[in-house]
Amino acid sequence: MERLDAFMARANAAYYATHDPFRDFTTAPEISQVFGEILGLWAAVVWQDLGAPDPVLLVEAGPGRGTLMADALRAIRRAMPAFHAALRLHLIETSPRLREVQGAVLPGAVWHDGLATLPQMPLILLANEFLDALPIRQFVRRGDTRMERYIEDGRFVEVAVCESEPPFPLAGGEASSLPDGSILEHNESARALVTALAHRLTTHQGASLFLDYGPAVSAPGDSLQALRAGKPADPLGPLGEADLTAHVDFAALAAAARTAGAAVHGPLPQGVFLTRLGLFQRTGVLARAQAPTRAAALMAAASRLAEPDRMGRLFKALALSSPQANALPGFA
Ligand code: SAH
Repeated sequence: MERLDAFMARANAAYYATHDPFRDFTTAPEISQVFGEILGLWAAVVWQDLGAPDPVLLVEAGPGRGTLMADALRAIRRAMPAFHAALRLHLIETSPRLREVQGAVLPGAVWHDGLATLPQMPLILLANEFLDALPIRQFVRRGDTRMERYIEDGRFVEVAVCESEPPFPLAGGEASSLPDGSILEHNESARALVTALAHRLTTHQGASLFLDYGPAVSAPGDSLQALRAGKPADPLGPLGEADLTAHVDFAALAAAARTAGAAVHGPLPQGVFLTRLGLFQRTGVLARAQAPTRAAALMAAASRLAEPDRMGRLFKALALSSPQANALPGFA
C-alpha cells in the first residue's frame, strides 16, 4: 500500500525518465515562441527594478525541453544585453534524460535537484507547468472521520488519518461544512518549495513567477489527471506510461508565501497577464514578417494561450517577490 503522493512521485519520475513528455501534452512555450520571449522580457524588467544586481541567478524550475528559456534568453540578449551578461543560468530538473535535452539548447546551464543548492545571490525564477507535476495527497471526508487515499493493487483505498495529522487542509475554508465524500487535495512539495523560496526572498532580492493551471480559490474535488498520447488516461494505469498532474492550489501557495514573508502578486488569469505584457502586439510584429499561413498560425497560437475558453482562464500567473520590491510587470 502506497500513499498517493509517493505513488505520484514514483510514477512521474518513471515517466520523465523514459518519455518525451511533449508527445503526450503541449505546453505554452511549445505553442508559441512569444510565450518564452515575453517571460524573458518580464525577467529583464524585474532585474532593472531590483537595481540591476550583477551577478544574478536566472533560474527555471522544470524546464522541459528548454524551449521557454531558449526563447527568453534570445529576447533578453536583444532587449537588455547587460542583464544577459549579468545572469547565471541555473535549472531545477530531476530527470537525467531531460537535463540532456536542455543542455543541448542551453549551453552553460547548471542543474540542481531542488532550491537548496542554488548559490546565495539575488534570483529571478520562472516556472511553467512545474507545480502541477509535484505530488499531491488526497483526503476524504467520511462522516466525522478523515480518510486519506492510498493505492493498493492498482486501486484507491481509504485509510483513516492519524489524530496527530493537522486538520483538513483547505485554505480559507471550513472542511467540516463539506458534503460527505468530499475530496480535499494537499500539495506538500509545492508548499515546501514556495515556503523555501519565500524565505530566500527575504534574505536575497528577487522575484519568481509561476504559470500553471488551477483555480484562484481553493476548492474541494479530485483533480488528479493522467495524460497519455494527448488523451486522458487512468492515473493508476501502467506506471510511468502517463504524465500525472493535479490542479495547483494557488490560494494555498499564496498564503504559504505570505506567511514565510514574501510579497505575493496575483494570481491572475494567464490571458490577462500575457495580454498586459503585450502578447498580441509582439505576435503581430512577428507575424508581419511571415508568409500568410505562418502569420495566421502565430496569431492562432497567441489566441490559444490567452482566450478564456482555451488556456487563458484556467491557467494562472502567480508571482512572489522580496517584501520591499515594487509592483511587478503585468500584476500592477
Ligand atoms: N516547463 C516546461 C515543462 C513542463 S513538464 C514546459 O512548459 O514545457 C514538467 C517539468 O518539470 C519537466 O521538466 C519535469 O522533468 C520537471 N519535474 C517534474 N517533477 C519535478 C521535481 N520534483 N523536481 C524537479 N523537476 C521536476
